[in-house]
Amino acid sequence: MAQNFEILSNKMVEEQLKTRDIKSDAVFEAMNNVQRHLFVSKKLQNYAYSDSPLPIGMGQTISQPYIVAFMTEQLELAPGMKVLEIGTGSGYQAAILAYLGCEVYTIELLKELAAEAKKNLAAHNFNAKVKHGNGYMGWSEEAPFDAIIVTAAPDYIPEKLIEQLKDGGKMIIPVGEVHSVQLLKLITKKGEKVIEKNLLPVRFVPMVDKTI
Ligand code: SAH
Repeated sequence: MAQNFEILSNKMVEEQLKTRDIKSDAVFEAMNNVQRHLFVSKKLQNYAYSDSPLPIGMGQTISQPYIVAFMTEQLELAPGMKVLEIGTGSGYQAAILAYLGCEVYTIELLKELAAEAKKNLAAHNFNAKVKHGNGYMGWSEEAPFDAIIVTAAPDYIPEKLIEQLKDGGKMIIPVGEVHSVQLLKLITKKGEKVIEKNLLPVRFVPMVDKTI
């Protein structure tokens, strides 16, 4: 990676993650090594490592680095785990999951973004299966999943996603009304029980329910 971006990426981990509550070395390593500037447009590359979300086109955004790290850490991932992401967007979060050695499946509602992310992930050798589809349906052919990460906000927890979680599996998901503050929740499935923990107020783009 260009020297400049390497410095920025290091600084991002030191100043935005280590000074806050992120603790996992695996997450630090992934955030340090996955080159975030490759997932934004050329003209925004110099801002790629800043402490904020960024536009990725079609009204969508790539999350702030801290939020990516926080959500990833909460899932307590290990290599080989099967993980479903809803809301591929730029493909950056999927690249982080792939870097951690997970088997990654990711669904994006917008065709252009799905195609772009698929191309970009492959070009940089991140192994993730990208599907153009509606995340409310999950990915039944590949279920069950050890973990599900939802990076757009629905106003309720989609039933199909709970169904597609393994027993003992975890899902992290922002839930709340469109254009208001949402609550990031950690869901753990234990047999018939679904345990819900509220973590953080967040702001994500809406998870749109649309047949495609
Ligand atoms: N994880 C992404 C950022 C996600 S932004 C990254 O790392 O860049 C949220 C994405 O969710 C947007 O691209 C949006 O188009 C998508 N989205 C919204 N509703 C969706 C749905 N029902 N199913 C799948 N993707 C959806």
